[in-house]
Amino acid sequence: MKVFKFGGASVKDASAVRNMTSIVGANLTEPLMVVVSAMGKTTNALENIIRSYTSGGDYQREIAELKQFHLRIAEELFEEISPVADTLDQLMDEVYMHLEKADDDDKQYDQIVSLGEIISSVLVHRYFLQQQVPCHWVDARNLIRTDSTFREGKVNWTETEANWQALVVQSSHTLMLTQGFIGSDEHGNTTTLGREGSDYTAAIIASCLNADSVTIWKDVPGVMNADPKRIPGAQVFDELPYKEAAEMTYYGASVIHPKTIKPLALKGIPLYVKSFVNPSLPGTKIHECKIDNLPPLIVFKENQCLISCKVTDYTFVSEEQLSTIFHALNELNIRINVMQNSAISFSFCIDFRENKLQTLIEHLKHDFEVYYNTQLTLITIKNYDAHSFESYRKHSGILLEQSSRSTLQVLVRNA
Ligand code: ASP
Ligand code: MG
Repeated sequence: MKVFKFGGASVKDASAVRNMTSIVGANLTEPLMVVVSAMGKTTNALENIIRSYTSGGDYQREIAELKQFHLRIAEELFEEISPVADTLDQLMDEVYMHLEKADDDDKQYDQIVSLGEIISSVLVHRYFLQQQVPCHWVDARNLIRTDSTFREGKVNWTETEANWQALVVQSSHTLMLTQGFIGSDEHGNTTTLGREGSDYTAAIIASCLNADSVTIWKDVPGVMNADPKRIPGAQVFDELPYKEAAEMTYYGASVIHPKTIKPLALKGIPLYVKSFVNPSLPGTKIHECKIDNLPPLIVFKENQCLISCKVTDYTFVSEEQLSTIFHALNELNIRINVMQNSAISFSFCIDFRENKLQTLIEHLKHDFEVYYNTQLTLITIKNYDAHSFESYRKHSGILLEQSSRSTLQVLVRNA
């Protein structure tokens, strides 16, 4: 069994769906599990709908637009449109229903945002069938079991593994199609695994089924040592060790979701990152291997915020005060991307989210004077060489700099 994952960009319009169908069709010599994400920017659109509903915006228009977006794709793909239009109507009704239901915010978010993957998988499944590609549609909500941490469901591996194995034992289908990103808790509420979590779903399924490999199909030729849009001449890696790939994602490389590597590495399942634009390119193989002289790897993590907590009396930052800060961060589930201390202040950089930031400041302001800067980018250069080390240290607008023997990080103001 192989697992293929197609993200939003690979199903963003009708021609993308045709292209992914031909990739799938060309790989049916052995059992295949296909995982799809929501089409294009659907997840963002659903997030915006919730936001508009809450803030008194025109959410009805946004829902109509989202329906139109899918309908246009369907019109290009299908000879017979009315069954698809009916399904879309039903799913949009579900969006309305969950909006109007008074619920916990995060729980409501998951019930609504997960529908993007449902719509996408229903459309793709129907298209497979129309194209005579026999395929079984699998509802991942019935199989990926998580706890009730909405927006960031923690997987119950024992139950999830039993569910997938039972499915495969009962099924005689060569091709199955399911959704990334979504699961459900023990009460039957839908949960999601965190934004961009479809890669992680592919890894979970592969691990549960002891798959031969996972392939993530992307709009880039493989894993590169820098974003080619920022750095011309960026190179594609032929292969990478799991550890290196995992660290890249930690620093913010968006090519693979950070949680993807571990389940695969634990079972020694190789991960291929390949181009859906040019499937004949070899792409990158991530597996257990040793590579000498990796080129410097440059990762830009945008939308960062630097917070400084200054002690308010004439003392120095104490361990007790640090523990207050860490406790607050832990409570709010905020991850530190880089940190630094001085005699009278402790500074740390986190992903910027306005409401989380305000809550954090509320927690800290009794003990510290809190300052912050937003609109920052954290640049990490892993495996730096003399040239990259010197040039990034001269970057304009540096607020914080830190280096070890292998890694340099600079936090800079956006130009
Ligand atoms: N559709 C979800 C998102 O955009 C999951 C994914 O694309 O991996 O976050
Ligand atoms: Mg996506």
